[in-house]
Amino acid sequence: MGKRKSRAKPPPKKRMDKLDTVFSCPFCNHGTGVECRLDVKNSIGEAFCRICQASFSTTITALTEPIDLYSEWIDECERVNGVEYDDDGDA
Ligand SMILES: [Zn+2]
Repeated sequence: MGKRKSRAKPPPKKRMDKLDTVFSCPFCNHGTGVECRLDVKNSIGEAFCRICQASFSTTITALTEPIDLYSEWIDECERVNGVEYDDDGDA
């Protein structure tokens, strides 16, 4: 007899356990120097380069992802650089 037991397969799960939290550093250009940490409890996101010790922190929300934090840092760097570069006119 041996009725065949049909085992219900679980739906394919998206692998979310390997989110990108490591990025290249805008200061020393090390490809995996920057690590992002999101402290959702305290609404603080930190990006930190373990190579050149550059760091950036900002407020985050529960929806902020490491890549968001990182791109904010890059934006900030570009803004700072832009201002410094543009501050060349004589008054
Ligand atoms: Zn660095």
